[in-house]
Amino acid sequence: MLSVAEAQQAILSQIKRLEPETVRLLEAQDRVLAEDVLADTALPPFDNSAMDGYAVRAADLIGAAPDRPVRLTVIADIPAGHPTEVEIVAGTAARITTGAMLPRGADAVVPVEDTNDNARGASALLKSVAIYRAVKSGAHVRLIGSDVPRDEQVLSANVLIRPAEIALLSAVGYSRVKVYRRPQVALLATGDELVAPDGQPGPGQIRNVNEYSTAALVQRYGGVPLLLGIARDRTEDVAAKLEEAIGQGADLIVASAGVSVGAYDVVKDAVRAHGSIDLWKVRMRPGKPIAFGTYRRVPFFGLPGNPVSAMMTFEQFVRPVLRIMSGFTSWQKPTITVTLLEAIESDGRETYARAWVERRDGIWIARLSGGQGSNMLHSLARANALVIVPDGIIHLDAGAAAQAQMLDWPEEVAAWS
Ligand code: AMP
Ligand code: MG
Repeated sequence: MLSVAEAQQAILSQIKRLEPETVRLLEAQDRVLAEDVLADTALPPFDNSAMDGYAVRAADLIGAAPDRPVRLTVIADIPAGHPTEVEIVAGTAARITTGAMLPRGADAVVPVEDTNDNARGASALLKSVAIYRAVKSGAHVRLIGSDVPRDEQVLSANVLIRPAEIALLSAVGYSRVKVYRRPQVALLATGDELVAPDGQPGPGQIRNVNEYSTAALVQRYGGVPLLLGIARDRTEDVAAKLEEAIGQGADLIVASAGVSVGAYDVVKDAVRAHGSIDLWKVRMRPGKPIAFGTYRRVPFFGLPGNPVSAMMTFEQFVRPVLRIMSGFTSWQKPTITVTLLEAIESDGRETYARAWVERRDGIWIARLSGGQGSNMLHSLARANALVIVPDGIIHLDAGAAAQAQMLDWPEEVAAWS
């Protein structure tokens, strides 16, 4: 049986990134850039004022002080977006706003607070202005190209597009941008006992959880879920759903349940009819029975049926696949070191314990968030982290240090008690 790390390597060795597509700027958020981005303009594109005030020649203001103001003739008014041809010559100034183009001849801006202008917005232009303070040449001027020179490469392919990248892209004129395509993930639940969430379960029936939980995970990790519904525990039924996935152009197929050793676990057979199961069972808890292979050359996951196992195996195996397909170059989920408030037992398989992690007295502490059965959803909803008991370890003491994968940060979700 493979370890979690070995299974991840074996799976990812078969996964390639999807092709890029060009999308509108806001559709690029949280996706991976697939081109280098050059600035079509310098930033700022022209010398401009960093303050509301007066554009001046610094040389005119030598010795200016509150008790010895220098008086300059105001020869222009320059709001942002309205450049002027007027030149500032000795003894003159122009009223200017933040972001307005600096006029010829001026080499500094005096903030309005250092003048006798009472700065009441669009008040009438003074004929002359008294200035109470000297300025250095270049003061309060933002020079052309001081942020980004023209033709500079501002972003390289493979970076994640966050709001900061959206900001830069818009500044350099990228209203459309090339990013890697979002994976289309076909999701199917299998089991004779399943009814839809809006149905009333009869005797022996339960609601279909996995299709929705895995769809939510697909969405969270940047894929597009294609919901195929429930297949009954018959090879023909599963086969029909697999064909539907292919028909819809899925990049990845994720089924849940029916991959164990029970008499009605038909999923593996249905896959093998037009593909292969390359890996089955991982030394992981929860979630030992996980199958990976291909169906008509499309990567296939058969996740365990127990809802927590399905989600935990999704986090460890499907999420990395989605990231690689989406163009990310890294896929490891970061971990933090936590101190355990209680002991955790394991059976030697790498264990992912549902826990609540928070910062207390300067350290990150973790306590279990409830029952750890692989069917127990409530403790998962109360968890913000998975504490990892490494492969081969059967016991971690209270007070011991452990690694935790954060599902969310405590600031982002409410604590359960
Ligand atoms: P199986 O892998 O088919 O043996 O299923 C393992 C357990 O998971 C059983 O208790 C199933 O009833 C349960 N299960 C299977 N599929 C789902 C599902 N879609 N939603 C909720 N529970 C499920
Ligand atoms: Mg079953």
